[in-house]
Amino acid sequence: MPELPEVETVRAGLERHVAGRVITSAEVLHPRAIRRHVPGAEDFTGRLGGLKIDAARRRGKYLWLDLADGEAMLAHLGMSGQLLVQPKGTPDEKHLRARFRFADEGPELRFVDQRTFGGLSLAELVEVDGTPVPNTIAHIARDPMDPLFDAALAVRLLRAKRTEVKRALLDQTLVSGVGNIYADEALWRSRLHWARPTDRLTGKQAEAVLGTAAEVMAEALVAGGTSFDTLYVNVNGQSGYFDRSLDAYGRAGEPCRRCGTWIIREAFMNRSSFSCPRCQPKPRRKAA
Ligand SMILES: [Zn+2]
Repeated sequence: MPELPEVETVRAGLERHVAGRVITSAEVLHPRAIRRHVPGAEDFTGRLGGLKIDAARRRGKYLWLDLADGEAMLAHLGMSGQLLVQPKGTPDEKHLRARFRFADEGPELRFVDQRTFGGLSLAELVEVDGTPVPNTIAHIARDPMDPLFDAALAVRLLRAKRTEVKRALLDQTLVSGVGNIYADEALWRSRLHWARPTDRLTGKQAEAVLGTAAEVMAEALVAGGTSFDTLYVNVNGQSGYFDRSLDAYGRAGEPCRRCGTWIIREAFMNRSSFSCPRCQPKPRRKAA
């Protein structure tokens, strides 16, 4: 599943390859890919023809293209979605779901999605907190890598919650873009067990866990070795970073890089949480 750094890599690639170009035609090859566009495929393709793409933007794991008419084409990659820029005439990918052709007759934009959990839709841009965002994701908070991310506000909101710290990190209305992997990494770095009650965190602890989340994502973006082009190869958007640099996630039974204790895996919301039982002791009191 693509995490924020992969999505940011895709955004930067789109900015470079499709911003400033005029769409001549859009083609939907699988209805599931535009199921979030309620008016349907005909409306979707009809509205895109002739529109210029102004910019590629992102909030959390949501990507969108600003269109010249004040709308946006929103893309969510889901589990396996890819946005590819392919030279005309390149054979169709097996799981090609949508295609966009441009007035300059240059490379096409293609949406490929094996498992079709991702999708595309058109949405109106609305201003939230001084930034235009698609209305359908207006409730999604800024992510910790956003230059306008308000860390002090996020700390206050986090500590006002009555839940477990990992649940709060995954709550996209509080802070967006932190997925399961980065949550575990941030908790390991800040020495907090995932089940720690948020209302009992100190300001310093809340600040630390949000700060380290931003830190691990920034490192993944820089050191990940993922470029827009290699994403074509790394089908699931998994960067090499994940193999090399994770301290907690996926390391059950391996020694903690800080203290040598075996990392353990616990069930969490139909997924897993990885932590060091020594560096990240279980809380004595559960979250309310
Ligand atoms: Zn440890």
